[in-house]
Parts: sequence; structure tokens; C-alpha cells
Amino acid sequence: MQNTLSQNANESVKKSTKMNTIFGPVHSRRFGVSLGVDLSSSTKQCNFDCLYCELTPMQAIKAQHTITSVETILHDLKEALQSHPNIDVITLTANGEPTMYPYLNELITRIDAIKGNIQTLILSNSASLSDENVFNALLRLDQVKLSLDAATPEIFRKIDRPAEGIEISKIIDAIQRFSQAFKGKLFIEILFVRGLNDTPKEVLALNSALQNIQCERIDIGTIDRPPAYPVQGLEFKELYELSHYFDPSLPIHIVSRTHATATPSHYSQDSILTTLDKRPLTDDDINALFDEESKKQFQNLLNAGKITQIERSNIIFYLPSQNSERKRQKSLKNLDN
Ligand code: SF4
Repeated sequence: MQNTLSQNANESVKKSTKMNTIFGPVHSRRFGVSLGVDLSSSTKQCNFDCLYCELTPMQAIKAQHTITSVETILHDLKEALQSHPNIDVITLTANGEPTMYPYLNELITRIDAIKGNIQTLILSNSASLSDENVFNALLRLDQVKLSLDAATPEIFRKIDRPAEGIEISKIIDAIQRFSQAFKGKLFIEILFVRGLNDTPKEVLALNSALQNIQCERIDIGTIDRPPAYPVQGLEFKELYELSHYFDPSLPIHIVSRTHATATPSHYSQDSILTTLDKRPLTDDDINALFDEESKKQFQNLLNAGKITQIERSNIIFYLPSQNSERKRQKSLKNLDN
């Protein structure tokens, strides 16, 4: 899991000099205006040691040894909320893994008491979700983003380098159970690393795990910042090609634009509709993939009602109207069964 909301080019982070537990506001296209709460502000503490981590490499640990008090966090958060009243979301994150914070449940109760209409969100690497205390604490949040970088034990160990005893089969089982029980918005994030989880075999294993996870969106990305270890990210086009290994019914969204120095191609009207049928696209995808003439053809299809748009948590996706109708009929059929 990347530990901040600052992965998008249009997002900016300001760390307060006065309060090192609070950062932001961060303007995130995906989550709105977010105030970050760092649950491990003095040092990195994580149960993973991911190859792609943007923090210092450090051996994975099972429990926090340096703990900020709930009182300190609440005090800093209240001050920050007074300075920044127009916040959409309070984001629980960490220099490491926020679910390792031992007073997470109490902290959520105290934040709920002061947050008013502001949403709560956590960015987690999913490793602790099989712990029932963490599972139940996360159920109380408005939004949860869980990372899932691999579905096979071999690739999981290579890419996320977990603390001893953490198994990917238990993580996947916990995410699947969580997605059934959670009433808020669940996001899944997959980060691709060249030569590791970018093989068709691994993507098909991820696709199989995702079939039983009900979520708002699946964000797929790659390394955007200098990683802890010498690993490489993928080009945008490679991410786009990988996205086709996922079932078209899954809400896949490509988030990484770092390598999207586009080589736009020409698409006929038919190929635009075929492309959207395989994978709904966003405006960013269209800008990266289509040349100017193809964009005009896309607009003509949109104006003629042959393409429709759907919104998933602030992101607009375009898909063929017939595809949309087919999916509606499929879900109605499922309801009948
Ligand atoms: S090691 Fe992995 S899970 Fe831990 S902070 Fe870094 S990227 Fe996130």
C-alpha cells in the first residue's frame, strides 16, 4: 500500500510543522478534500516491507512499538478541523500500516463524535483484516481502501515481504467476508511491479479472488515514486493491456498516469465501441489512447446516445449503451433468481 493520498499528479500534500500527526488537506480526485491522520508519525512501523514502498526499507514487524496517544491525535485533529472546516474525508493512514495502531477502535469512536458530516476513510494493506478486532473496527468507517497486490503465496511473499505468519489466503478470505458485511464504500487497490505481479497467471489469480469481492472500484496502478528497492513500474499501455485479463464486469480503474506519455492511436467508431465493451474507459484513458480524430468520433457516438456514462465515486466511466443495457438486464435476471 502506498501510504499517502499523494499519488495523483493533481494532488498536493502539506505536512503541518506544528502537528506531525496531521497532514493536508490533500485534494484527491478519487476521495475529495482529505485531511490525513498519521497513526505512526514518528517512525515507519509496518507488517509489510513492500519492494515498491516509497518509505525507507525496514523489516516487517508484527506490532507497533512507538505509539501516539489517542488524546494527542484527537487534539491535533480538532485543531486542524478548525483551520480547515471544508473537509470531505478524514483519512487514517500511517508511516506504515494504520491498522497496527492498537487503539484504532477507540480512535474511531472519538473521531465519530467530532466529525459531523465528514466521511472517514482508511488506507490499509489488508494484512490485519483477518484479526476480528481490526475487521470490526473497519466496519465502522464510511470508506475503506484495501490493497491486494497478489493472489498467489509466491508472488505475495516476493512483492509485499510480509511479517512471519501473514498468509495471502487468509487476507483474501477476510477481504471477501468484509466486502459482504461492510455498508460503506470499499475500494481495492492493486499496484503492479514489472516482472512480479504483471504476468497473466498472477492477474488471472487476482481476477478469480476479485469475483467474490463486492466493491465500489478496483484501482490499478504502478510505481510512481522512487521505490525502497530497485524495482520498476509499468507503462500506461502495459497496465491497459493487463486490465483486459480482468473480467469486464469488474469496476477496474487505471490510476497511474506517470508513464502515460501517450502514443495515441486511431480508432474507428466500431473499434471505439468494441474497446469500451471490453473495458469501460475514463477521460484520462481516452486522452492517453485516442488521437484527435478518434476523440471526435467518440464525441459523435456520445452525442448519438451510442455511448453512455456511469459514475463510480467521483470517476466517470464510458461504455457502450448496449453494454449498459445488457448489464442492467443481467442484474435484473440475478434479482429474479
Ligand atoms: S511497506 Fe508496503 S504496506 Fe508498508 S507502508 Fe510501505 S507500501 Fe505501505
